[in-house]
Parts: sequence; structure tokens; C-alpha cells
Amino acid sequence: MSDAEYKPTTYFVMSLDPIHIGTGGYRLGRVDNTIVREAGTNLPKIPGTSIEGSARTYVYYAEQENKEINEACAVGKELNKVEPCGICPVCVTFGFTTKKKSLHGMAQFSDARILFFPVHSMIGPVWVTTPKLLSDIGIDKFSVADEHIRTNLVDKGKKLNLGWLYLENEEKFDLSSSLNEIPTDIKNKAVLISEKLFSRVVNSNLEVRTSVSIDPRTGTAEDGALFTYEAIPRATILWFDLVANDPGKFDVDSSIKSKEDVINEVEKSFNYFNTLGIGGMQTKGFGRLKRLSEDSK
Ligand SMILES: [Zn+2]
Repeated sequence: MSDAEYKPTTYFVMSLDPIHIGTGGYRLGRVDNTIVREAGTNLPKIPGTSIEGSARTYVYYAEQENKEINEACAVGKELNKVEPCGICPVCVTFGFTTKKKSLHGMAQFSDARILFFPVHSMIGPVWVTTPKLLSDIGIDKFSVADEHIRTNLVDKGKKLNLGWLYLENEEKFDLSSSLNEIPTDIKNKAVLISEKLFSRVVNSNLEVRTSVSIDPRTGTAEDGALFTYEAIPRATILWFDLVANDPGKFDVDSSIKSKEDVINEVEKSFNYFNTLGIGGMQTKGFGRLKRLSEDSK
């Protein structure tokens, strides 16, 4: 098989709210509800499984607008003694299991990784990134010394603060000819830092919110029970890959016949990510995610 067979489609998204994808609520330091991180880098991420789960629900909502689909299709397995149909766009795009048959989803999602992370500085918000993160999306030309920055925001040799860190600008940093999906005002305020610093800067600038714990039996606040939630902050830019399989290669009888059909189905979920969001505490103003594209600015 050629490489083109598995060529992914890359999507860029921006958080419109803090995003909380919890690890299951164990306590770490001062935070009660920590978020999922990448092994190795320790950077927060949105797992592909979370994107897939929400996308499935939202494609179900979108398809419901056209035609009644049974609720089992929304979960891909038997629900209230009803089996998923196995042929609708939701079943084929995201997979299903019945007693007779099982099909894996034609849409496969990578984890969403941070590309630009917002930090306060003396000149307002700036967005930090690293040579490695840029190289992972195909931009290889940049480097930066540890404990230094590259940015267009201050002159060469001058310092800029990222939170409490004061770092010297070693060179200009021009992203204007690349990454057309990313808003220009964010690219203009980009600051390149080393891997080592990036992890520190991100982990010390996460959103931490305190919320009252609600007693599930009475629906009222428990006395003095305050919980802290960690979250990826608003205006963080992340990216993920979607690999679409060709339904024609599998034994399915559906209106979803090609990779393009699969991609088209997945993209029906984006409006819902924009309004309903992803992850925990969506009812408390968390989770909305906007797709960035060249014509969305
Ligand atoms: Zn179905």
C-alpha cells in the first residue's frame, strides 16, 4: 500500500473555553481534578478517543436532522434491547457491534496536541510554541537556545516576560508565510521557546478553577466542599489528524462509500464542538472548541 493510502487530514482547533478532559479525579498537589497528559512530554492533550466519542454523538445529532436513526447507533452497541443498524452514516463512520457483526470505525483520530499556548506577558497575551511542535506539523526551519526566545514582539537582544520568566530575544521569528489556518494576530504574537521551558510554562499557566461540590442526592452545595479543576486555557491552539479508511474495502452496504464521505461525515460534528464542546463540565462553561480553517478568519 502506498503512503497516500493513509495520508491524514490535519485539523487545527482553538479552545473557546477552558477544556477539562479529566484523568478520573485523583488528587495531585493542589489540584483535585487533573487533566490528561502525554506520556514523556507531560503536556496536556485531548485524547483521540475523547474527540471520537464527542464527534460520534454530534454526527448522530446532525444525521437526526435528516432522518430518524435509532439511539443504539449513537453508542454503536445494543441499547435497551435494540441493536445499532450497521448501515447508517454514524455506524459506518464510527463503527458498531451487533451479535452478528462488528466493524471498526472508518474514521481514526489522533490525540489533539498543543501547538500554540497562551501566556500573559507585559505586552499582553502571547502564544508560545517550540521548534519540535512546529517540526511535527512540517515546519522545520526554526531553532532556539534554551532560556532564550525568538519573537517579532521585541527587538533582538531585548527581554520579554512569560509570566515570571524573563527571556532574551535572540532573533526575529516570522510565521507569516506558513500555517494559513492560524489567525494572523496569534502568529504575530508567537514566541518560540525550548522544549524544556515549554513544559514548565504550560504546566504553570494552566487554568485552575475552584468550584463548589454538589451533593448528587439533594442537588445542593455540600458545606465547604470546594474542588479545584485543572483545564487547558481558552485560546489554546491544538491540532489532530484524522485518517479515513475506505468503506469500499469492507463489507458494508451504506451511503458512506468513500474516504471523502467519511471525512464529510466527521466534519458535520464541528458546528457542535463549537457550541456544545468536549470533555467535562460543559454545563459550567467549559469545553467549546472551534475549528480553524483558511476561510474561517
Ligand atoms: Zn446505525
